[in-house]
Amino acid sequence: MDRIINAMTKSKNIQGFIALTRDSVKAGAAGHKMNIISECIFARALTAGVLLGGNLKNEGDKLILSWNCTGPAKKIVIETSSNGEVRGFIEDNNLQLIEKSIDGGTILSEPYIGFGDITVSRYSGLNAEPYHSVSVIESGEIAHDIAVYLDQSLQIQSCINIGLDIAVDGEPNVCGGMLLMAMPGATEDEIKQLFDKFNSIPSFTTLLKCDGMTEDEMLKALLDRFGMEQVFEKPVSFRCHCDSASIGKMLESMTDEMRNEYKDADGHIRAVCQYCGKEYQF
Ligand SMILES: [Zn+2]
Repeated sequence: MDRIINAMTKSKNIQGFIALTRDSVKAGAAGHKMNIISECIFARALTAGVLLGGNLKNEGDKLILSWNCTGPAKKIVIETSSNGEVRGFIEDNNLQLIEKSIDGGTILSEPYIGFGDITVSRYSGLNAEPYHSVSVIESGEIAHDIAVYLDQSLQIQSCINIGLDIAVDGEPNVCGGMLLMAMPGATEDEIKQLFDKFNSIPSFTTLLKCDGMTEDEMLKALLDRFGMEQVFEKPVSFRCHCDSASIGKMLESMTDEMRNEYKDADGHIRAVCQYCGKEYQF
């Protein structure tokens, strides 16, 4: 089951989030009919979005994380809500393999992302003004650039690890991530000790594979490893609220001329939801 876990060190000086996202990645990739390269990049972005959205609290709170980049991925958007729903897309669902992106058994994000910027927008369910922040893409590696964003935009020291293993047929075996963030009271020593330990994990993907353990046991072992205690857990799922009626309304608001431009040879209009890939025909 996909979920996000919030945890704290006993000193309450370092906060952690763990996200398990395999089923959401699977649903999103299937909806958008992604090939495996696009799915690998999308999987990391989705996991990063779920981790960053881990502290959304009030009903209606949401976070939109987007990449505008020079690489062939061009644009990636991930939206997460306080109720654990996530949806999103990558502009190109059929990214072509770039040879230099193969690193051992994984696909690096950098060749597909390149340069550009990351925007994080937080919307409050309590109708407060949305908050937008932008940071530069420093490396093109999703986990690294999220840590740069947290540092540059929010002055939060953090480290983040995302693991994924996707079979050649596109079926994700595991996908998830962990984010540690220093709270204002944390000392440099405390941060260094925990972050060094976190960064010395040889393979986060292997860890997520729960070797001989249940998923719950793996999560408990992960928290114990960093001396953390769970604060809350909530389920995560890929879900989009698009529907035929609202897309129909949008089409109705167009002029006849505009609508005719979208009609196919049979006089139908085919609309695809950008966020989940669902097709509608009118
Ligand atoms: Zn949709």
